[in-house]
Amino acid sequence: MKNKLIAANWKMNLSAVQSAELFKQCASLAQTVPSDLIICPPATYLQMGNSMLESSGVHLGAQNVNQNLAGAYTGELSASMLKDCGCAFVIIGHSERRTQFNESDEIIAAKVKAAIENSLTPILCIGESENQRTLGLTNSFLTYQIDSALSLVDKTQMKNLVIAYEPIWAIGTNKTPSIAQIQQTMTTIVKHMYKKYGENFTDSSVHMLYGGSVSDTNCQAILSLDVVDGCLVGGASLNFEKFEKICQAS
Ligand code: 13P
Repeated sequence: MKNKLIAANWKMNLSAVQSAELFKQCASLAQTVPSDLIICPPATYLQMGNSMLESSGVHLGAQNVNQNLAGAYTGELSASMLKDCGCAFVIIGHSERRTQFNESDEIIAAKVKAAIENSLTPILCIGESENQRTLGLTNSFLTYQIDSALSLVDKTQMKNLVIAYEPIWAIGTNKTPSIAQIQQTMTTIVKHMYKKYGENFTDSSVHMLYGGSVSDTNCQAILSLDVVDGCLVGGASLNFEKFEKICQAS
């Protein structure tokens, strides 16, 4: 059985001092929990994370990557730069980037390709809006998002991939789908992956995460689902006591 994967998305939060404290706490937490941890801090703290997490076993992830390899892209970071900072993972397709920074499906597909070609594992975020769920469009929309995001990568390149199912309406709202809905939706995603990507989609290479209002109180039930290989945690990852409980639940 593979280890559960708990990924922390700090988003645009924390000072340098607070980040240093949390890196330190997470580095020692990793020695006591069975799950694998990934910390995705703001880009300015990646170097600090790289040195503070060294030899702790905690992986470092970025929150974004530019799809181009290099050039005149003011303010952007390439996949190879993130590798140089010690990143092994990168979040791609987060709904906050899709909506607030107008990231299209085409851009997301190019980012996934750039990440994979530079040996960064994408944490590909997909998720439906509340309206789509109400209209019964959840499954078709999620499978569309997956196919579109993976359209530029060869099936054989998908050896290391994390898919994070994050319903948009559950992010930062304290609302989550029911446990049965999480199970149902994520099973649909897995079935689709098997059907479309066949033997290249193996249980051991692709981790399926749930994200959206994961807390120290609901984590146990979510992580107990077979289809859930871990969580992508936003707000609760900024509070060490809560994050610790989530990691312990896995
Ligand atoms: P919250 O855990 O704060 O709902 O955020 C989830 C998220 O967006 C993680 O990427």
